[in-house]
Amino acid sequence: MSHEVLLTMSAPISYTIQIPNPKNHLVEVTMTVPVEAQGESALEVSLPSWSPGSYLMREYAKRVQQFEARAQGAPLATRKITKGTWWVPIADGVSEVEVRYRVYAHELSVRHCHVDASHAFLHGPALLMYVEGRKEAPCVLTAEAPRDDWTLFTTLPRAPEDEGQPHRGFFRADDYDHLVDCPIEMGPHTSYTFEALGVPHTIVCWGANRAPIERMLEEFPKFIEASAEMFGGALPYSEYLFIALHADKGYGGLEHRDSTALLYPGDAYITEDDGYENFLTLSSHEHFHVWNIKRIRPAALGPFPYTQEAYTRALWVVEGCTSYYQNVVVRRADLITPERFLELLGKRYGKLMQIPGRLVHPLEESSFDAWIKLYRPDESTVNTTVSYYLKGELAAALLDLTIRDRTDGARSLDHLMQLLWARYREDGAGYDESQLQAWAEQIAGGSLQEFFDRTMRGTDELDLNAALQPFGLQVEPHDHTPGQAWLGLKHSASGDRVMVDHVLTDSPAERAGVNPGDELVALGHQRVARDTLSNLLKVRAPGDSDPLHVFRRGQLLELELTLGEQPVQEYAITPLDNPTERQLTLRRGWLNGDLGEAPGDS
Ligand SMILES: [Zn+2]
Repeated sequence: MSHEVLLTMSAPISYTIQIPNPKNHLVEVTMTVPVEAQGESALEVSLPSWSPGSYLMREYAKRVQQFEARAQGAPLATRKITKGTWWVPIADGVSEVEVRYRVYAHELSVRHCHVDASHAFLHGPALLMYVEGRKEAPCVLTAEAPRDDWTLFTTLPRAPEDEGQPHRGFFRADDYDHLVDCPIEMGPHTSYTFEALGVPHTIVCWGANRAPIERMLEEFPKFIEASAEMFGGALPYSEYLFIALHADKGYGGLEHRDSTALLYPGDAYITEDDGYENFLTLSSHEHFHVWNIKRIRPAALGPFPYTQEAYTRALWVVEGCTSYYQNVVVRRADLITPERFLELLGKRYGKLMQIPGRLVHPLEESSFDAWIKLYRPDESTVNTTVSYYLKGELAAALLDLTIRDRTDGARSLDHLMQLLWARYREDGAGYDESQLQAWAEQIAGGSLQEFFDRTMRGTDELDLNAALQPFGLQVEPHDHTPGQAWLGLKHSASGDRVMVDHVLTDSPAERAGVNPGDELVALGHQRVARDTLSNLLKVRAPGDSDPLHVFRRGQLLELELTLGEQPVQEYAITPLDNPTERQLTLRRGWLNGDLGEAPGDS
């Protein structure tokens, strides 16, 4: 291979992002692609269909317009060959090709781009194309805000040639994965910086909000340090960015290698009792992903096939363990009490118990099916699907409790995470997910065959009580009044009309023949309206039979309904009486302190 060929192979693909008029929500992208070698006859240029961390085909190419390519100033006869891929011919003697296109960016989500007169949030996979076969090539990016008084935030490193301007920058990325794993936020924003373990962290907020910044600056370093302690006490990045997008509604987060994008209701910090705590644990969740998924990951999840589904059965580790640890680390940082930690876990158990889908959909299958089930809910989802977040969190808790009990508190789920981290540090590769059980057994010091068969691969009820008993704890119904009449459906109001959204499996509504989409009209010849349904049920008892009138496809139908009894809605984890010394010791180890201690005692 000649020296000249080596030089061109390492030449970066360069991108320029401009937003001439944020009011029209169009982002202009220019890509300059060096031609690798003489004789290369065409390039294939693609935009991803999905984003790492969010397992749904979002078909980002639907927002692309005015795609064109030029070489030496002359237009090329490009052709679209799939929904998200363009074919670009290369003539002999051409050394580089320039590709231009525009992306319409006005979807407020952490998985899309959102540009308006107030800011620009740019999400790489929705915006930046790659050249087939060249995803490993280094990239450079020039990005400029539409106004000089805006500041640009990203964790992409600035290149040596960068001029240090706040509103524009010249950045470099190791490869395409790196490039699109660093979202960019720009606007007339104030940012807040703190240090954790000597590493700078920045919080930047967009949108009207009541975020308690002082409290965040005090508490965020604590959960970050608690997480890092699990993985050897160091942070695996040189800076970190929290991009907090606020609106009147919306909730979500997406993890990146050294940043996260969060969407949160701007008033919820004040209007919701647990508004700040929810934001805190959303943040600790996304941050925990810097280890668990951005580095420790199943082999299927990185490098990514950006235009095809990536299948894994291990999302119970990726999202379940992360959902569990989001609360564990805020507990270890003493930002919530042991009681609150148990309360949150009890609520999650109660939520799982409301979902008939838990009895038909195994956890590993839920992971594999993410593309068609969790991210694409419909009227049957509650009956057919279990979430790998929800059941995964409880499975992680059960696995933690099981390991602690088996090893007399000497080991825990932490040790499994540490084993995965040590393996990652050897070569940076994704793990073989078929080995997860064997690795967990290595930590637990014995077979977990039955545990994995029941919890990960089966649909048996989770036996939380059996797992809690060695810790002197139990799970029991909370705030439950027996003998309340129950329909077994979920409904929503359309004006004053009550529409059926979901009919639960094996419920009174299902037995009566109620369908999703029915409008409830009358129960026992009394009118059903949005404010009256709960009262109509209150004056009835389980076993009562009444005619139920519904409109279905415009026809009035009379159904014969026999009411059932309202199942337990909420659960709480409470201490057993007279705990043994072993139970107390295990409990203190798990909760990082014991019940009844004031914050700070542990
Ligand atoms: Zn997550």
